[in-house]
Amino acid sequence: MQTITITRTQNPKEKPQGDKLPFGVYTTDHMFLMDYTEGQGWHDARIVPYAPFQIDPSCMVLHYAQEIFEGMKAYYGVDGKVRLFRPSENFKRMNFSAERLVIPAVDVDFCVEAVKTLVDVDRDWIPTAPNTSLYIRPFVFATDNHIGVHASHSYLFAIILSPVGPYYPTGLDPVKIMIEQEDVRAVRGGTGFTKCGGNYAASLRAGDRAEKKGYSQVLWLDGVEQKYIEEVGSMNVLFKINGEVVTPALLGSILPGITRKSCLELLRSWGVPAIERRISVDELIACAKDGSLEEAFGSGTAAVVSPIGELIYGEDEYVIGNGGIGELTQKLYDNLTGIQWGRIPDPFGWTVVVE
Ligand SMILES: *Cc1c(COP(=O)(O)O)cnc(C)c1O
Repeated sequence: MQTITITRTQNPKEKPQGDKLPFGVYTTDHMFLMDYTEGQGWHDARIVPYAPFQIDPSCMVLHYAQEIFEGMKAYYGVDGKVRLFRPSENFKRMNFSAERLVIPAVDVDFCVEAVKTLVDVDRDWIPTAPNTSLYIRPFVFATDNHIGVHASHSYLFAIILSPVGPYYPTGLDPVKIMIEQEDVRAVRGGTGFTKCGGNYAASLRAGDRAEKKGYSQVLWLDGVEQKYIEEVGSMNVLFKINGEVVTPALLGSILPGITRKSCLELLRSWGVPAIERRISVDELIACAKDGSLEEAFGSGTAAVVSPIGELIYGEDEYVIGNGGIGELTQKLYDNLTGIQWGRIPDPFGWTVVVE
């Protein structure tokens, strides 16, 4: 394994005060960097003071968006230990994204080590107030300076950290979701299953339109027939229908969320049927109408789970359950956050302590 050199900052930044941390605004004192050069592989793993990059105007990433990222968190536990949640899963997924975007793979164990080392260097930045955490953003981008469409020969891998409060300032309050009938996020054969920057650029217009109408996110339909449910905003989506939990199957256009996977594993461990299959919007609306749609929620690292209180489809609005937080949604939230903050035992061995 490579060694990681550490250069500590001479000018530590002021840390944000109070327990009302906005999401993704502050960054810490250090970052992790590593270069890729064709023929040499990944090299020069280093932790350095956080600082802007210098980028040539012809840098390929600015033109052709050859970029991938990950999102994870470090949690300051009730016992004073700092935990990561399934970090290897993030770097395994990063390698799936990398393969699709023709970016060189990373060493999963080494990247987990890099995260642990960086979080330890910036340990004082981990917020301790309830529901706060240190958001971890690894990313890789093409660095060749060349105008011309082909894969880059050089890349930069970086990890930055951001102390954050809850993703939704209102916490676990139910949100209103608009079913998007115009734009699509991804198609099979495309990049929907990867965390690449371009996917999010393509999703902004629908998100903007939904917000202007007073809804927090859009529910995406498939890119071919606009008939099957895919995801909600940048979260996976799960529904409780007639006592069973169903979620769209991973058929290539959906991001394989680690929170989604953890929800399914928890549910199955409780004996709740958790099924991955295609769900059409017509089926969903029929279930919303006849009351068999008992709960609906998004899942993702940023918000953990986010209850959906209301669905809007065309001109029609459907309240889900009693419009509040479903019982199972709440139980998943309590168990996931319980494991993450060390409030309850971790029977699955999902957490990794940063020593
Ligand atoms: C990151 C992401 C998710 C959630 O993944 P987690 O691993 O649970 O954080 C879901 N959908 C999209 C589009 C995402 O980018």
